[in-house]
Amino acid sequence: MTETFTPPTRFAVPGRIAVGEQTATLWQTATLTEIRRETPHAATFRFAVPAWAGHLPGQHLQLRLTAEDGYVAQRHYSIASAPDGSGHIELTLDHVEGGEVSGWFHTVARPGDTVEVRGPLSGFFAWPGDRPALLLGAGSGVVPLMSMVRHHRARGLTVPLRLLVSARGPEELIYAREFGAETTPVFTRTAPDGVPVGRMTAAHVAPLLAERPEGGWEAYVCGSNGFAEHASRLLVEAGQPVHRIRIERFG
Ligand SMILES: Cc1cc2nc3c(=O)[nH]c(=O)nc-3n(C[C@H](O)[C@H](O)[C@H](O)COP(=O)(O)OP(=O)(O)OC[C@H]3O[C@@H](n4cnc5c(N)ncnc54)[C@H](O)[C@@H]3O)c2cc1C
Repeated sequence: MTETFTPPTRFAVPGRIAVGEQTATLWQTATLTEIRRETPHAATFRFAVPAWAGHLPGQHLQLRLTAEDGYVAQRHYSIASAPDGSGHIELTLDHVEGGEVSGWFHTVARPGDTVEVRGPLSGFFAWPGDRPALLLGAGSGVVPLMSMVRHHRARGLTVPLRLLVSARGPEELIYAREFGAETTPVFTRTAPDGVPVGRMTAAHVAPLLAERPEGGWEAYVCGSNGFAEHASRLLVEAGQPVHRIRIERFG
């Protein structure tokens, strides 16, 4: 069965308030400066937020779109960029079919458009770069984990960091060009020749836990509810202490 997707256009003129506010509780204007395609369904949106107070890798923000008639849509998005003090932040959005906010970004938004953001939020899922990090993500759940990978590289950190990331296929793997030796992709539907197809399993997780870095792993899991449950169960079964598993659910 096919469905007709009508691109949402209500938010062509987002609201503009609270420029220059410096705390996480106040809305600030974010100006879209660049759009980069990552996969057929995901793109990265770069914003200038001059008064951005800074963030830790793993944190997210609230984003608000306001239509001319006053209608407001508000969503949470993880911050993809590493903290760099540049006054810019990047978000990576999956295009959810029929999605109000992701649909606006993927079909209407252009550089120069403004939205409102408030953050950073959630210290719990943040990784300051001070302890070994074992990152498990699926789909757009890789976004906050990529901020951690980028931070690790940008600062030249030597603390161990590993990323296990699940995608339907190579073409759906967000940030594929940027991954290095720290990353193991897992493909659930299609894979390059010689690479197995299937879900993330104990066989992916166990060798990483066996590395036993000094101080032990802090595990960060991000994705849909289903993935979060599956991945955290794998971690616990492989011996990761429950209190050292942090979970962010997009579902
Ligand atoms: C802490 C947090 C961080 C997040 N970070 C990101 C991020 O970095 N990138 C990102 O792309 N999303 C992220 N999300 C999800 C995001 O907040 C929105 O839910 C998503 O963009 C869909 O919003 P929408 O307005 O486009 O769709 P809606 O208009 O809200 O939904 C349209 C339809 O799609 C369904 N739907 C909603 N979300 C999804 C989904 N994710 N998958 C499948 N179906 C869905 C709804 O049930 C509904 O039927 C995050 C969520 C949370 C809670």
